[in-house]
Amino acid sequence: MAGMTSAVPSLPVSPPTAVPACERCLALAEDPRRREPPSCLALRNTAPLVSQSQAGVPYSMLTFCCRDCGTVWRLYDRANELFVSWVPEHPLVR
Ligand SMILES: [Zn+2]
Repeated sequence: MAGMTSAVPSLPVSPPTAVPACERCLALAEDPRRREPPSCLALRNTAPLVSQSQAGVPYSMLTFCCRDCGTVWRLYDRANELFVSWVPEHPLVR
């Protein structure tokens, strides 16, 4: 009878399953100042979060979630600024 092997096969630890960003999200990352959300984004909270930056500039933030790839986007709209900025919650996976 051979000695019992207690060796547990060491499986490579896979990173948390990241869904690659869809084309529209990648396009939005390329052009984060556009005001219109792409068609794949669904508004998560209807009420914008209104706050102030460290410099005291008021801004509102809306949260969107992509129906295709699940990317969560925050849309920042600062007072007195022509452009908005789209910021993904996590870096996009290509
Ligand atoms: Zn997407």
